[in-house]
Amino acid sequence: MPYAYDPQNIFARILRGEIPNKTVLETEHTLAFHDIAPHAPVHVLVIPKGPYATFDHFAAMASAEEIVDFHRACAKVCEIVGVAPGQGYRAITNAGAHGMQEVPHYHLHILGGKVMGPLIQ
Ligand code: IMP
Repeated sequence: MPYAYDPQNIFARILRGEIPNKTVLETEHTLAFHDIAPHAPVHVLVIPKGPYATFDHFAAMASAEEIVDFHRACAKVCEIVGVAPGQGYRAITNAGAHGMQEVPHYHLHILGGKVMGPLIQ
């Protein structure tokens, strides 16, 4: 099945400036902002600006420049919010129904500021 992307999803609307966000970092291809309902003292979402629904969609279809920009932005976010270097963090992504993905625009959750506990609870 070809990759599908819904341009009306909430993160697409944030990227278009239709919904406000608390920006942590913006680069040419990437935006990072605080999660609206944080699960930890640090909870930042990092998203590519391109129309990618999931991690696998992004990894398969994005340009090398976008992929490098995204990961360098993730590293910079960790530095800005003080988790690396520091006490560490958890970076996770949910994809599709089984992953319980709510927003169908690829995003990496960066969580920290406390001991995170077991991965699966
Ligand atoms: P998912 O379940 O991995 O798709 O995570 C979606 C995340 O987006 C959740 O942690 C939500 O709290 C977060 N979220 C939803 N709407 C907004 C928003 O408008 N701003 C920031 N975070 C949001």
